[in-house]
Amino acid sequence: MENFDIAVIGVGGMGSAALYHLAKSGAKVCGIEQFAAGHGEGSSHGDTRVIRKAYPEAPDYIPLLNRSYELWKNLEMVSGETLLNLCGFLVCGSSEGDYLSKVQEGADKYDVNNQYLDRQALQDRFPQFHLPDDFAGFLDPEGGIVYVEKGVHSHISAALENGAVFYGEEVLLGWEKFEDNFLLKTSKRLITTEKIVFTTGAWAVDMMAKLNIPLEIWRRGIFWHDCKDMAPYYPDQFPSFVINDENSPYCYYGCPAINESGLKLGEHDVPLKLTDPFERNMPLTNEETTNMNVLLENYLPDLNTKPLAYKFCMYTISPDHHFIIDQHPEIDGITIACGFSGHGYKFAPVVGEIISSLALNGASEHDIGFLGIERFH
Ligand SMILES: Cc1cc2nc3c(=O)[nH]c(=O)nc-3n(C[C@H](O)[C@H](O)[C@H](O)COP(=O)(O)OP(=O)(O)OC[C@H]3O[C@@H](n4cnc5c(N)ncnc54)[C@H](O)[C@@H]3O)c2cc1C
Repeated sequence: MENFDIAVIGVGGMGSAALYHLAKSGAKVCGIEQFAAGHGEGSSHGDTRVIRKAYPEAPDYIPLLNRSYELWKNLEMVSGETLLNLCGFLVCGSSEGDYLSKVQEGADKYDVNNQYLDRQALQDRFPQFHLPDDFAGFLDPEGGIVYVEKGVHSHISAALENGAVFYGEEVLLGWEKFEDNFLLKTSKRLITTEKIVFTTGAWAVDMMAKLNIPLEIWRRGIFWHDCKDMAPYYPDQFPSFVINDENSPYCYYGCPAINESGLKLGEHDVPLKLTDPFERNMPLTNEETTNMNVLLENYLPDLNTKPLAYKFCMYTISPDHHFIIDQHPEIDGITIACGFSGHGYKFAPVVGEIISSLALNGASEHDIGFLGIERFH
């Protein structure tokens, strides 16, 4: 029987950050991950993620983002890896639409330095896009991309350097509480701990259902496209972006090409719901292909329609599309972070820091009331 202060269950995007921050705080901590480190089976793979302070989802995320940027830079120093490429982030949509006004609201409240671009300025600056006449946008100069698998590996390595133990390719089969401790049964060992952190991504659905919080799992295709001349699509000329046309059901995003694999593209809003995360690799549907063709035909017509490659990934959608980060309301000693609703990875380091404080001290210095479980009841 092995003994730890804390076990982190699920060492993907958020769990790897939690493992690092807990170990750095001096906890005797282990991470249990059903796949290998930095795997491509959950929600934290596909080379890159958009990072941005243009945040229409809710202004309250911006202070957390400010801290996340600091922690990403710290992790770059600790790991010696380049994890961010701040090539800029472009958000564009209907000039009179709600989406852009929400971006502006957050920027005003928290002094984010977004640059307004009218339709002409958008086309002059980024001729790679073909945009409708009523479009406008904001360029967030602090936005760009974060390298996702590299981020997971860097957090795990930094955790190991601080004394954490990582058990990869080992699944948590069950757990029970006895007196003040937990007994955990994995596919390879028995462990006792004082506390547990659950960062199980799309596998959090059953645990949250027991708390009457219905999470949805959405399968997402990630597509890489190229064209004859890729030079204008590399980060020195091309930003990460979101296109939100309020007259269309689709919300598209993309990340600049970082190697020979092409420009990375995806759709955010139209769900393909799964009942189980293990269904994620079912064949590409016609609807998924059609969604991407709309993006290419309407906005990026110079790219080849046939993707160079595609992969599948999962969103875990909470009922209000905001994160869930809290202590278990019924069982002392359990911290939960899930429901990142397709926009969580840029926050991974600050989420790790918050989880560490919640697990060790029962509270976080960050303002996370809007992410608590109580809001659903
Ligand atoms: C296509 C796509 C594009 C995205 N784009 C962006 C973006 O541009 N910007 C952004 O900020 N965010 C983006 N996101 C969202 C972001 O990637 C996720 O919010 C984040 O990565 C979720 O991390 P997680 O730790 O919750 O899940 P995961 O990284 O999936 O980690 C959960 C882990 O738990 C493990 N696990 C589960 N159950 C067990 C068990 N019983 N035993 C052991 N291990 C277990 C799983 O194997 C997995 O490794 C995107 C997501 C997708 C899918």
